[in-house]
Amino acid sequence: MLRLGKAPERAVILLFDDGYKDFYNAAYPILQKHGLTATVAVITEKIDVGGYLSEADINELLNNGFEIVSHTHSHPQLPNLGAESLHFELAESQKILKEKFGIDTKALVYPVGKLQLHGDSSREGLL
Ligand SMILES: [Zn+2]
Repeated sequence: MLRLGKAPERAVILLFDDGYKDFYNAAYPILQKHGLTATVAVITEKIDVGGYLSEADINELLNNGFEIVSHTHSHPQLPNLGAESLHFELAESQKILKEKFGIDTKALVYPVGKLQLHGDSSREGLL
């Protein structure tokens, strides 16, 4: 989506988070049938874990034009984390996406939709 630099008029972004296996089994074939792609936000510690996308699934998605972005490493509620844990969640996820798939992404889908800029509880809210 971001690779094009400019969205076409009336653009729609399809975003699936968590990287569940049922995305691959149910949604992916339907999207393909209609010539659509989507963005999938994966929890990197869940790759190859039962019920979640495997490395092979993700490679297939990438080869078919799907975009993979970060949904952190372990899906914590980010406002609850200290600075060190927050850095780990973001950096580890980016590192794994780069090492396993060659993905260089700065895109992050916040787990549980919670956003809080560090140290400012008034900014917490749903995205
Ligand atoms: Zn999630």
